[in-house]
Amino acid sequence: MRFGPPADASRFASAWSDLAGVGRDPLRGGFSRHTFDDADMQLRHWFAEQAQRRGLEVENDRNGNVWAWWGAPGPGSVVTGSHLDSVPGGGAFDGPLGVVSALLAVDELRLRGVTPARPLAIACFAEEEGGRFGLPCMGSRLMTGAVDADSVRRLHDVNAVSVADAARRVGFDPSTMGPDPARLAVIGTFVELHVEQGRLLQAADASAVVGVGSEILAHGRWRITVTGQGNHAGTTRPEDRKDPMIPAAAAVFAARRAITEYEGAVATVGRINPIPGGTNVIASTVQLWLDVRHESAVTTATIVDAIVAAVRDEAAAEDCTVMVQRESMVDKVSFDAGLGLELSELLKAPVISSGAGHDAGVLSAHVPTAMLFVRNPSGVSHAPDEYADAADCLVGIDALADVLENLVR
Ligand SMILES: [Zn+2]
Repeated sequence: MRFGPPADASRFASAWSDLAGVGRDPLRGGFSRHTFDDADMQLRHWFAEQAQRRGLEVENDRNGNVWAWWGAPGPGSVVTGSHLDSVPGGGAFDGPLGVVSALLAVDELRLRGVTPARPLAIACFAEEEGGRFGLPCMGSRLMTGAVDADSVRRLHDVNAVSVADAARRVGFDPSTMGPDPARLAVIGTFVELHVEQGRLLQAADASAVVGVGSEILAHGRWRITVTGQGNHAGTTRPEDRKDPMIPAAAAVFAARRAITEYEGAVATVGRINPIPGGTNVIASTVQLWLDVRHESAVTTATIVDAIVAAVRDEAAAEDCTVMVQRESMVDKVSFDAGLGLELSELLKAPVISSGAGHDAGVLSAHVPTAMLFVRNPSGVSHAPDEYADAADCLVGIDALADVLENLVR
């Protein structure tokens, strides 16, 4: 494996300790950093300060994404970066590792005496996880025009605060949200470094620290609302119950069945919301969210149909009604094959696929895009136990610096 000299471990440790206290979630463990909340704003300020310290020009785009430029934006720009937001109770690495690595890769390029012949930018994309407003990759999708800005402005969080209001509260003008073709046009290449979310790298090559991404599975989110009749848990006879939790439970089991029935599929109910949510109350309504992923978008749809059918069967027996809303869906993404091959040869790194969505997946429809994954020994992600060894992160930073050095020539 060829990597440059190790990036300064103390600079990495210091950046990491800056972030360690921001957005800690005392209830769930890990971090809850949600778009435009206090933690997110603190991270944005931290990023801007770090970028300015490095002489980069910081700007907010019209979609809540932050950019830091080395050189004036222009055609053929090389862009790297990731996101600062997290899932509720997420790990420390998903998102921030790509941002911190980008900043330290810039340091590394300077140490190597590289003078970019093309502009280089670090981007932090808003609401990558969809943790607050339910739409993953919101910032990159807005920028590329993959979603309608009006419907995004109207999305709201669990406290009924809309995207537009949340943006206004932190000084962003939501009226300018929408496609940004001029910005997109200057991006020549996008490379996102990310902690691996799974253990495919280990399976591909037990000694590999960094892998190059080839594709992202088709994936989507659906909200299923089952409505029955709220009632007393103690006094309501079995034959009088219209309990929406029963069809909701059917969704959970049908999702697990789908994993065994469809090779390569994953289906998860990770969030369920009984209303009103009392221990001694039969819920009147249950909302649940279904996450389904497979290589094929057609199979993904088939799986969702099967799960919804199971919910409807139970709902009919329980005298409940069912409403299904698709919150997001993206087809399988294949990253630029030539670029992927080039990076894998440069880094002597194996090529792996990803079951997780990323802003890189959104951008890949418009510009040559690649991803680097830093190994994650347990494979755990979207949870407090997510972990990457600091020494591996340093290897990742050098790999990113190698890649950027090659691209900015
Ligand atoms: Zn991520």
